[in-house]
Amino acid sequence: MRLKHFLLSAFLLSALAGGVQAQHTQVIAHRGFWDAIGSAQNSIAALQKADSIGCYGSEFDVWLTSDNQLVVNHDDTFQGVTFQEARAEECTALRLGNGERVPTLRQYLEAAGRLKTRLILELKPHKTAGQETRAIEGIVRMVNELGVEARTEYITFSAHAAREFVRLAPKGTPVYYLNGDAAPRELKAWGCAGADYHIDVFRKHPEWIKECHDLGMKVNVWTVNGEDDMRWLIGQRVDFITTNAPVRLQKVLGEVAALE
Ligand code: MG
Repeated sequence: MRLKHFLLSAFLLSALAGGVQAQHTQVIAHRGFWDAIGSAQNSIAALQKADSIGCYGSEFDVWLTSDNQLVVNHDDTFQGVTFQEARAEECTALRLGNGERVPTLRQYLEAAGRLKTRLILELKPHKTAGQETRAIEGIVRMVNELGVEARTEYITFSAHAAREFVRLAPKGTPVYYLNGDAAPRELKAWGCAGADYHIDVFRKHPEWIKECHDLGMKVNVWTVNGEDDMRWLIGQRVDFITTNAPVRLQKVLGEVAALE
């Protein structure tokens, strides 16, 4: 009987430890879960599909148009239209690969309001610091108005935009810098929640993972699609992996958890 209890406790403990490991690295779908039927990068469908498979977060890209509207797309120039030089109506007339029109940020956030996945909002670098600050003022206002501020995190390649998100978003809102050229201490001084760097940066500076954690910051890594890279990063205890292959990453996380 005592042996049975012991075995049961050992089983529960190992299951718990496995669960903790499986929880440790979270999955972020890069531009949504777009590699699926009926989906496309940065479409509302891709956001909904990322949510439907239980991703921690869904990443997407935002531009400020010439008439100060916010639209969602990755490319600087898409189908001949340069977002930051075009009016919003020119941008939203364009169709994505799945037939959806390029969404406005408002449409995107309204759709997100019915979901659970976290919103990993990337502001693309614009031509001037003024455009970036105007974009951030508009983003923070809209995110608050639509009631998704507790689920929104901000990421950007622009050092100016990273500091402006810290200044303008509600205190405690996670802000991550993407460009890979700032050491953890510098990010901490800016008020960032952590580093969100390309995997090559962490291959070159693996010590930055521990430095971030020691400073109370988190680590996100992009854009990781191969199983070997996923396993290395899970072993390094990174907090988030941003991937074009969220289902593959979920499978690898399950396999790692089963081995622990
Ligand atoms: Mg992006």
